[in-house]
Amino acid sequence: MTESASKPAVGYIGLGLMGKPMASNVLKAGFPLTVFNRTPAKTRDLAAAGASVAPSIAELAAGVDVVCTCVTGPGDVEAVYLGEGGVLGAARPGALLIDMSTIDPGTQRRVAQAARERGCEYLDAPVSGGVGGARAATLAIMCGGEASTFERARPVLDAMGRHVYHCGPAGAGATAKLINNLISASTAVAVCEGLVIGAKAGLDLEQLHDLLMNASAGSKSLASYKDSAMQGNFEPGFTVNNMEKDVTLANGLARDLGVRLLAGAITQQVLREAQLRGLGEKGTASQIIPMEQLAGVEVRL
Ligand code: NAP
Repeated sequence: MTESASKPAVGYIGLGLMGKPMASNVLKAGFPLTVFNRTPAKTRDLAAAGASVAPSIAELAAGVDVVCTCVTGPGDVEAVYLGEGGVLGAARPGALLIDMSTIDPGTQRRVAQAARERGCEYLDAPVSGGVGGARAATLAIMCGGEASTFERARPVLDAMGRHVYHCGPAGAGATAKLINNLISASTAVAVCEGLVIGAKAGLDLEQLHDLLMNASAGSKSLASYKDSAMQGNFEPGFTVNNMEKDVTLANGLARDLGVRLLAGAITQQVLREAQLRGLGEKGTASQIIPMEQLAGVEVRL
């Protein structure tokens, strides 16, 4: 028996910036892989690497043991699972369904319940680590669902990530992920403001970045600005639109839980400002541009 034949067949839906490299790692780990993407051109590289391409979500779901999805927001996850021609209308009884999109825990719990009613197992399993982590299979993956479902999903998750956590019941992975993005997005706002002050004050920006990384302000967020904004590089890894989605979802979660969220409110407005300036499909570092324009400086090396 070949290695592939001994492993469950996996289907991957959503071959965007994250989904494509994640699916590629599933294939490299030896799982027989079928892919579907709404925009068909994005399936080409994986097809060339040996994946099968399904013509529809339903045909993908009907033909595999494990379905992974990485789409955009709550409405997209609902459409892909619950909509006409969606995963739940076609999945095999007992199939394992893993959604890796960043959405709210409430939607994840609803989809998990619908999956249970169809006799399927479901896990919310959002990820962190960016496109670099997706390519290198070093993502952090935070999961919500039954412990037994988590154990069943482990081999597929291990193909995509290095730090895989079971956070609790359905929705717990989504909650952990929104907390992560609230913290990283709020940190990034302070990073941008600090760098703009440094530029306006005429400090040596290379030295400033270096010293901050060796001081208490050092963070992954600050580190990333050296290769993005400070080089004038605003290409997406992660778009402003998606970060605004996540911080808005974190604000909603805090409201639902009765938690006051000041940093979330301010951060959402900073990202909104970037969207209104036409930067929504640029990388998150482009949120610094409106701040630079107001201050009349550019934070460049
Ligand atoms: P992306 O490049 O925009 O990819 C989104 C993918 O989802 C595309 O393949 C898109 O298809 C598909 N899609 C969206 N809505 C759909 C729908 N209603 N039906 C079918 N397919 C749909 O975004 P991404 O950066 O990969 O992010 C994907 C998810 O991961 C998001 O929830 C994001 O917040 C999260 N995330 C991203 C990062 C990052 O660094 N980029 C890191 C961690 C988590 P088309 O190709 O047809 O548009």
